[in-house]
Amino acid sequence: MCCSIIGYSSRGDGDGDGAAPILVRGLRRMEYRGYDSVGVATASGERGPGQQADGDIMVRKGTGRVDDVNRSARLDAMPGSVGIGHTRWATHGNVTDANAHPHPSSSGEIAVVHNGIITNFEEIKSELVQDGYAFRSETDSEVISNLLQKNYERTKSVKESMASTVSRLQGEYAFVAMFSGGRLAAARLHKPLIVGVGKNDMFLSSDVLGFIEYTDEAVYVENGNMVIADRDTATFEITDFEGSPAKYSITKVSKEFGDAYKGDYAHFTLKEIFEQHETASRAGGTAVHEIAEAAKIIRDADSVCLTGSGSSYNAALVAKHFFASHAKKSTEAVMSSEMQFSSEGMGPGSVLVAISQSGESADVLSAVRTARKAGCRIISVVNMMTSSLARQSDVTIGMNCGPEIGVAATKSFTSQLVVLYRIISQVAGGRRPDGGSGDNGGGDNGGGGDNGGNGSSNSGITGAVPGLILRTLEDPTGVQKVAKELKDISDIYVLGRGVHYPIATEAALKIKELTYIHAEGIAGGELKHGPLALMDDSTYVIVINPADSTHEEMLTSAREIKARGARIIGISDARSDVYDHWIRIPEAGGEAENAKSPLYAISEIIPIQLLAYYTALERNADPDYPRNLAKSVTVK
Ligand code: GLU
Repeated sequence: MCCSIIGYSSRGDGDGDGAAPILVRGLRRMEYRGYDSVGVATASGERGPGQQADGDIMVRKGTGRVDDVNRSARLDAMPGSVGIGHTRWATHGNVTDANAHPHPSSSGEIAVVHNGIITNFEEIKSELVQDGYAFRSETDSEVISNLLQKNYERTKSVKESMASTVSRLQGEYAFVAMFSGGRLAAARLHKPLIVGVGKNDMFLSSDVLGFIEYTDEAVYVENGNMVIADRDTATFEITDFEGSPAKYSITKVSKEFGDAYKGDYAHFTLKEIFEQHETASRAGGTAVHEIAEAAKIIRDADSVCLTGSGSSYNAALVAKHFFASHAKKSTEAVMSSEMQFSSEGMGPGSVLVAISQSGESADVLSAVRTARKAGCRIISVVNMMTSSLARQSDVTIGMNCGPEIGVAATKSFTSQLVVLYRIISQVAGGRRPDGGSGDNGGGDNGGGGDNGGNGSSNSGITGAVPGLILRTLEDPTGVQKVAKELKDISDIYVLGRGVHYPIATEAALKIKELTYIHAEGIAGGELKHGPLALMDDSTYVIVINPADSTHEEMLTSAREIKARGARIIGISDARSDVYDHWIRIPEAGGEAENAKSPLYAISEIIPIQLLAYYTALERNADPDYPRNLAKSVTVK
């Protein structure tokens, strides 16, 4: 899935306490990316390569959480002003101490942390074993350290040994190598690598959160480039894989990354749920031109396909619904992992709208490659504007919701809905929200703005969203009471109709991720075609039931279920005696169905996010880091 690498090098003439505590702090901040093992290597820089078999490199590592491994192995007490660190997500070899990174080379003079997969490692490993290099782990990554050592013995140059090594490696990787004497080098192929540029020091990291406390100047290393650091001058050189200078620029990283603290909240997930009135109001707000451009491309396209994975796919399904109801545009929604099997209809007249929080999700990137091959144009909706997805798109619209640390998507989902809704409104042009007359032909600025067609872009639907979300968040005590009751159940179903059906699948996903309770989203009308057989007095069913055109039929479904003994949790702005628990949501203003339904869709997920969060607490599950899951799934 994912993991993090980090390297730190300082001139060592400052008053700092060395590399190790800085590396451990960086690893802790990147924990949200998911991992199973942790390790750090440092170099004191007192001896050069070749002078002693063990060089000057010290390695400590183990399985488990950063804080636990740090406590038992005293990672942050390691000496030296240069070091590398890693959190591993095992792909080759079990989760064991020996397989944890860093991996020293045979002689111990070079150590490597690696993110990704080396596909031709077996071939390289058997050659190196024949040449007498020893291997101590089952990982693919260890070939990097030994290959570097072999090449270093031949070339006596960090840069040349890096160039010869990367020319042999196949697969996807970002790695940082530390050579004895404390010299760092790194390379990137299809995995993120960022240089943090300090005054007297520098970082090499998977994520800006690895160094944001220390510097806000960053270089996003391009694919196929490597970095050679000079410790003495605290400078670095970026080259292509042959060693020729590569162009790069230093970016000021948004200070808002510095806000990736929990503050007074017990968990990031809770903080992120409670931020949604602000994040939704920012979503896509600075991307007026990009939204207009995206709308034009979509309007002119022969076919439109929306894609994403997990919550982003659910957002795609919601958008498909609104494209039809608001813009009278029929679109497809395809899970990114399925795109390779369903791209036949795509061609040069098609457009793919790719949705991803991180912009690094391997399935989404692969869907983009498939679509590109077919000649499609790419529009992306992403949170990380520096991500691979953003760089590969014709038009990128930022969700602008700040770093999302909780592994389960919350604020990014509602921001995606707002951004997509803004695009849809532009595609709809002057169409009135009730679908009646007033269609002015769908010009770029057809008076639609983001409000479904009533004039001002601030007073319409997206203008109303933040207030509605705030009211939804006002008093979570009802939700907490229900969470207590759900503590010991093993199954729950979530029902929705129309646009509320993809919200029901998103709700079920949140419950699975956070509570480990089996949850299923079901379209209300499908109940009698199968799932009704599951209903009995041990079953809990959440019905998403706002007072819109789906309301009455959903009440009928709820009654059918209740007649089988199941307990009903109603998410609604209207009371009903069929609900055993009523979780009240605020009324969406406005008369027209088309004006109300996006408001409901965006706000009704919030009490379920909260329900999943509080139920996780009741069940002693860690809501920020669900088991077996990673934030950005960067392998397929
Ligand atoms: N493939 C390497 C391993 O299994 C690195 C995995 C990772 O990205 O953490 O150790």
